[in-house]
Amino acid sequence: PTSPPVLAVANLEVVYDDVVLVLRGLSLEVPAGAVVALLGANGAGKTTLLRAVTGLLIAHRGRIVKGSVTLDGTDVTGADPARVVRGGVAQVMEGRRVFAEMTVEENLRAGAHSRPRAEYRESLTRVLDLFPALASRRRSTAGYLSGGEQQMLAIGRALMASPRLLLLDEPSLGLAPRLVEQVRDIVERINQQGTSVLLVEQNAVMALSIAHHGYVLEVGKVVRDGPAADLLVDEDIREFYLGST
Ligand code: ATP
Repeated sequence: PTSPPVLAVANLEVVYDDVVLVLRGLSLEVPAGAVVALLGANGAGKTTLLRAVTGLLIAHRGRIVKGSVTLDGTDVTGADPARVVRGGVAQVMEGRRVFAEMTVEENLRAGAHSRPRAEYRESLTRVLDLFPALASRRRSTAGYLSGGEQQMLAIGRALMASPRLLLLDEPSLGLAPRLVEQVRDIVERINQQGTSVLLVEQNAVMALSIAHHGYVLEVGKVVRDGPAADLLVDEDIREFYLGST
């Protein structure tokens, strides 16, 4: 038997303030070992989907009214964030938030939660290995890092929990092209090391160039999905999301 997807979202409906229906029957899957890209214009509901998965909806006065979220076959619909973290999910929120007053290493330690010391050491070695720029600045104050380095730190912090599934919300937003390339390479390496990734991006070219599968979201619903390579050459998608034909 094939293993269940790391993440399966089925017919999800989400409202804010009990009135604004933002997700309208959204379904998607992240198979084990895959990078899945979630594309869509501003306001399509991408961040809302991530909140529904992580259990952070409630902090935004949102609520799942229908549908389900399962992790490795276990139902976690409406579960609190701590349970989702224990289920192997880590996320990097939009805007590369780091603890600006803390050092690089303190930021990374914060991502390890209360894992035993040996596991912490192991994760730290693995993460610093992925990000040599952070390794050389372990004792630097995070707030003084460049935008690109802060993004790497935010990703590194999420990886400290050794997640099975990494959720990335617009990791390339506001980064110079060279840094977008770096983020792309890092996501690829993280995936090669066995972590499944759900990549929310406005930068469709970047996302589809590493993803195995892509979904296109419009007003809270999936309107297209398919192998990333197919979406990348699709005329409609190129025109609408890539701004070129
Ligand atoms: P962006 O790229 O701009 O973040 P997105 O695709 O991630 O867009 P969401 O942030 O999920 O979209 O927003 C989807 C819709 O839900 C938008 O119309 C937004 O205004 C609305 N929305 C988001 N958060 C709330 C909230 N806390 N209360 C009410 N409406 C909200």
